[in-house]
Amino acid sequence: MIRRSFFGYLAARLPYETVQGGLPDPVDTGLPGGITLQIQVGADQKSLVNKKKTILKKGVEVHRGGIYGLFDEETKEITAPVSGTVTSVETRTGNYGRHFALVHIETSEEGDASPAFTEALTADAKGADSLTFLSQLPGRPAFKRLAEEGIHTVILSVLEKDLLTNVNQYAFQARKADFKRGADFIKELAPTARVVLALPLYLEAEAKEIGCETIGVKNLYPNGNPLLLAKRISGKAVEAGKSLEESGFLLFSAEAVAAAGKALRTQSLPQEKLVTLSLKNKETKLVSARIGTPVAKIFEAVGEELAERDHLILGGPLTGTSVYTSNMPVSADTDAIICHGPENMPRLTETYCINCGKCVRICPAHMPVNLLIRALENGLYEEAAEKYDLNSCVECGLCSFICVATLPLFQQIMLARHTLTENEKRAEKGGL
Ligand code: SF4
Ligand code: SF4
Repeated sequence: MIRRSFFGYLAARLPYETVQGGLPDPVDTGLPGGITLQIQVGADQKSLVNKKKTILKKGVEVHRGGIYGLFDEETKEITAPVSGTVTSVETRTGNYGRHFALVHIETSEEGDASPAFTEALTADAKGADSLTFLSQLPGRPAFKRLAEEGIHTVILSVLEKDLLTNVNQYAFQARKADFKRGADFIKELAPTARVVLALPLYLEAEAKEIGCETIGVKNLYPNGNPLLLAKRISGKAVEAGKSLEESGFLLFSAEAVAAAGKALRTQSLPQEKLVTLSLKNKETKLVSARIGTPVAKIFEAVGEELAERDHLILGGPLTGTSVYTSNMPVSADTDAIICHGPENMPRLTETYCINCGKCVRICPAHMPVNLLIRALENGLYEEAAEKYDLNSCVECGLCSFICVATLPLFQQIMLARHTLTENEKRAEKGGL
């Protein structure tokens, strides 16, 4: 039983990056010699990858812009950002026990893109094949889901997912014509849905030409959080434990909307991801990198040398993930990469909660985080969901940020939610 849904969010506190007055064009990190594509797989699929039972395997040639299935020809789930040859396929276990297949591709000459996307668009721009391609764009826009039943509200968001990134604000301002084209296409695909453009107040004046219902919000974290935006727009909280999509909402990032507009205009699939880099001297740089490019190659392009004890975080400072190797690739939804030198490593200690209540006061979902964490530390995940509103968490990371005992509260919450979801899946399959 969920005792409390999230309601009455507190005012946001932390300013996002802004792009007031414009940004220089992003640094193009160039064509990498090799890329890695990461595909999340289930535990059962992991063993298939390890047994080399994949369609994409060593020696298979891929064509830039072509779409491929990992396990069968029919399930198209991977677009090749480069032309080249698969050199290996392996698995990796990431945070919270999630499994990934890693497809390594050695890049060949750039050459012409695969004609498959153009053919799909020509046959039917709103057809299933076109939408499968468009769902692979930077930002991972849910075009396939949009064409199905049950979506009542689409949010086009110019707000950022986390601090220290400005990719959506840049994409909206610098790629306005493509953004409009993408937004018009989304409206055509979902004619009965409410399409709302959510953007920072300072950009509101630029929204007129887009022709959408607009909502301006303060450019403060966590106002860009998808669940909080849905609540703001609909006036009603998404039911605790339900995803945005299950509740009839979809969120498209500004970068994804502009990428869709460009894809329709040029009849080819953009494969470059915008990423904000935070360098060791705290400077930020916007780059445009081919999806799958290793992090090391991206920092090299802006003249930042990575050293052995540097700390890399994919994503922002509140919700990002530490990675252990600079070979980790940029994915279609990586908006930020942070590099700290060893002297600037974030604090993290194994101390005890002193019950100061700061996490409770800052939590936008008004959860009893101080009580919740006691249950989680003891592995009482079901009790955490039943009594302490675990499922109401909107995954903003503010509790970890504020905790005076520097407890990894957000990570504990994510681990618990992932474990409970996996347990549910196993129970459905009769495994528990
Ligand atoms: S991450 Fe922490 S602060 Fe954010 S909603 Fe969840 S419990 Fe609350
Ligand atoms: S902020 Fe940290 S120390 Fe304070 S009550 Fe929350 S968990 Fe405990």
